[in-house]
Amino acid sequence: MTINPDFVFSANNLQDYQDCPRRFELKYLLKQRWPAEESEPVLEWEHELELGTRFHQLVYQYLSGLPEEALLESINDPDVESWFRIFLAFYSQQEFSQTFPEFRVRVPLGDYQAVAVYDLLALTPDNRLLILDWKTAKKKPQRSKVSDRMQTVLYPFAALESAHNFLPDISLSPESIEMTYVYVRQALENTLTFNYDAQKHAENRSNLETLAAEIAALELGDFPLTDDKRRCKYCVYRSLCERGENAGSLSDIEGMETEPELDLDALLGSLDFEAGDEIAF
Ligand code: SF4
Repeated sequence: MTINPDFVFSANNLQDYQDCPRRFELKYLLKQRWPAEESEPVLEWEHELELGTRFHQLVYQYLSGLPEEALLESINDPDVESWFRIFLAFYSQQEFSQTFPEFRVRVPLGDYQAVAVYDLLALTPDNRLLILDWKTAKKKPQRSKVSDRMQTVLYPFAALESAHNFLPDISLSPESIEMTYVYVRQALENTLTFNYDAQKHAENRSNLETLAAEIAALELGDFPLTDDKRRCKYCVYRSLCERGENAGSLSDIEGMETEPELDLDALLGSLDFEAGDEIAF
């Protein structure tokens, strides 16, 4: 066993393992820093990440009660303003009785724990719990690709497992949970919604626990490199794996017929806008 007993699984690190076990090993076990690189694609990714971070901050500030007008006035990037206006249009159509922005929960996962950081958990007046996640990806992905993402597996699972703690007066069934991704670069048809049920919850528990146990059973050095070399094209560790020196550009990746998952939104999901709001269950 190479992971510590206090290792915490997340949608990001589980997704990294699924995409490439070696990437998981380098990133979370060996804590390998990114090899220095100042190439254009990396700067392009950093710029995207910067804009996405600003957008998520604005949404968090809005959901925390700051006035819309003041927030709009504070924006100095047209893309961020456009995304924020699309978010506002979406949000104005919702009706919630309780909201939990940037909410983090920790739940048991076999012998380990898992953390989920929600952009927004929201309870509707008829006691449905909505998981809302803002995405700044350049295009809305196919539903089949999103349904397999570890975020889509872990987030409803962790919400249901922990809901009795932050909603102690409400008895939630799996069927009352719903997860929606909102793609704010699109003004119309910009959501993907996934319903939940008891069977899905049991499957998710089994899959998550199996994955955690599989990772825990591997020794350092035994984490294989992915067979899908397209993933290496934009991976920051490619020079360590002798799979190329230069990063692919974002436009290369977006143009590929079967687009690998470069999920800047996943990186954004790991950022904290308010420290100390994690609730461990
Ligand atoms: S370069 Fe490829 S094999 Fe190496 S960690 Fe990245 S994705 Fe995995």
